[in-house]
Amino acid sequence: MRWEMDNLDRFGRRITYLRVSVTDRCNFRCIYCMPPQGVPWRPHREILRYEEIVRIVEAAASLGVRKVRLTGGEPLVRKGLPGLVRELAGIPGIEEVVLTTNGSLLAEQAAALARAGLARVNVSLDSLRPERFHRITRLGRLEDVWAGIRAARAAGLVPIRLNAVVLRGVNENEVVDITALARQGFQVRFIEWMPLGSVGMEFRERFVPGEEIRARVEEGLGPLTPLREEGPARVYALPDGGEVGFITAFSAPFCATCNRMRITADGKLRPCLLSPLELDLREPLRSGATREELAALLAQGIERKPFAHGVAAETPHDREMSEIGG
Ligand code: SAM
Repeated sequence: MRWEMDNLDRFGRRITYLRVSVTDRCNFRCIYCMPPQGVPWRPHREILRYEEIVRIVEAAASLGVRKVRLTGGEPLVRKGLPGLVRELAGIPGIEEVVLTTNGSLLAEQAAALARAGLARVNVSLDSLRPERFHRITRLGRLEDVWAGIRAARAAGLVPIRLNAVVLRGVNENEVVDITALARQGFQVRFIEWMPLGSVGMEFRERFVPGEEIRARVEEGLGPLTPLREEGPARVYALPDGGEVGFITAFSAPFCATCNRMRITADGKLRPCLLSPLELDLREPLRSGATREELAALLAQGIERKPFAHGVAAETPHDREMSEIGG
């Protein structure tokens, strides 16, 4: 163990952001994320209980983590999520609890989540065309997602970010329409496909580089003006107001500024999404580890966080995205 435990890694990166997958289960089967039959869900006893997540976040906060994002699987399929949000938002040091969701269950939960202290939501939205949306998600209904987005807005979970993964021959011709939503106050982000999970690699040939997406947006809406780098996203202003961001994990990795680590649904600390390195937290938790001991494990993860994942065909596919938490 290091003499001083903190959130600074070997490369001078400060880890302030924890993404927590609260479930490996999902009510969608997105074509690039899961096989049609789904993946075998882990038994409940393997999934972290809410109180275990709270203990991990308390330990992380003691090291300097300030922001928590709940993800999955689909986080809203897990019962009682507002209760978890309330507890996490109350942890000293945690400044912001946010959520990434497919939006399908948001209509019924947005108000309770906002009351519990959720700050904002990111909604994954790969198409604005109902039939295509259904084909991509296999189980999703676009109208449910829009109802969820409206409810999130009404509950004050703003600004709402809309994330789209662009795939060739699937939805590439919608990038202008999706970007145009920025004029309605949404933050639009295009995410490059990444080689992850069991079905992920089948989509390799459909990869569309961020540069190409940006060129398509400019062709449709006019020149973009660089605004800022925001985490992994390069954000640009649109000519008629609003902004759009591009997350280019594959074509231009952003390891140098990476400030995040992940907790998988089954309680492993994963310092880098694209490296198979994991440290188990669940067993220590269940055998009575103290907050200091948990913090020491987290500090070890920070210490071992890799640099330059070099996403390539050789990237190990040890886990589904739904388990790690996208
Ligand atoms: N169910 C929630 C949702 O839909 O946002 C959270 C989990 S989902 C795995 C998180 C994000 O990962 C989604 O925006 C999804 O599009 C993205 N994703 C899944 N597989 C991906 C891949 N191979 N490359 C890039 N993004 C991917």
